[in-house]
Amino acid sequence: MAVAAKDVVSEVHESALVKHIKDTAALLGRPELYARWRLFVTSHAVLGPDAFLAAKNAVLDVPQWATWMEESYGPVPVELAVSGRVAVCGGCEQWIAPRADGLVRCRVWRCGQRHDLPGPVWVEAEGARRLEPELVRFVALPGHPELDLAQRLAARGARVVLYPKLDALDLVALWPDGYSVGVDVKDWHSPYLLARRIKTFPRWGRGSVRLPQGVSGRSTRPAAQQPQLPEDS
Ligand SMILES: [Zn+2]
Repeated sequence: MAVAAKDVVSEVHESALVKHIKDTAALLGRPELYARWRLFVTSHAVLGPDAFLAAKNAVLDVPQWATWMEESYGPVPVELAVSGRVAVCGGCEQWIAPRADGLVRCRVWRCGQRHDLPGPVWVEAEGARRLEPELVRFVALPGHPELDLAQRLAARGARVVLYPKLDALDLVALWPDGYSVGVDVKDWHSPYLLARRIKTFPRWGRGSVRLPQGVSGRSTRPAAQQPQLPEDS
């Protein structure tokens, strides 16, 4: 059950830094800072010296912000560079560690499946910083589909709030007519195991599990039944 173990690990993990930022943002009464940090690291894998300085100085009234950036981005290790540059995947937008034979190919499962994967973007390695591997795995990679969904909902006229209430949900989409949807994006290999793990839904009127198109098979049946929640009283 290697897949199950992998899914569970990524689900329960929360790094010390993530917890620290969440707690500090709560303490400061600035929960939006946590969402902002999360959004930033999800969309920036490698920062050149100027971009890193700008990132550190982005929230001057909260001195902790610069420290969070220092701890989120480390110097680019020599083994990550190919001819003085770092590759950033055109699919998941994360840095790619070259293989021993020098070949640069993203190891992210979803990117490996794509036949239309765009080529990597190359960033100068000199003086650059790269997102810490732990944050790549547990924040940025899961965050990528969340941002993608947020952009699609915004394109359909919704006001989208990411990571509301310190991560109570991944996003809330609100339409001008009052209709709203709360979404928790789960990046699990097995919908069956995910469905088994969901014990309670957040209180949100009606709840359902939605699977991406093309996800099916004998093990998905319990999730595909789309359990409904009773209406909130
Ligand atoms: Zn990739």
